[in-house]
Amino acid sequence: MPERSRNKPEWQIRIAKERIDILFSEAVKTKDTHLRKRYMRLAKKIGMRYNVRLGEKKRLFCSHCFHYFGAEAKRRLKNGKIVIACPGCKRIARQVYK
Ligand SMILES: [Zn+2]
Repeated sequence: MPERSRNKPEWQIRIAKERIDILFSEAVKTKDTHLRKRYMRLAKKIGMRYNVRLGEKKRLFCSHCFHYFGAEAKRRLKNGKIVIACPGCKRIARQVYK
C-alpha cells in the first residue's frame, strides 16, 4: 500500500487553490442555494485533500450545513466574536474577530 504523503506537489496545491477560488466566485454569482452548498462542500473537500487552508473564506459559509452566507446572514459582534445565525440550519456560528 503506498504511503499517502501529506505534502502534495506544489502544482497540485496551486491548482487546488485555484479551484477553491473559482468555487467561491461561482457561489457569489449564483442565487441557487443548493448549488452554493455544493460549491462550499466541494471547496472544503478540496482544501482538506490538498491541505489548503481556507483561511478567511471559512467565514463565508456555515460549517454545519455549508450554507453560503454572503451578505444575507446577520452578523453581530459579541464579546469580541462575530456571531452569525445561519439562515440555513439556524445554528449559531461564532468566529473570532480580528
Ligand atoms: Zn448552517
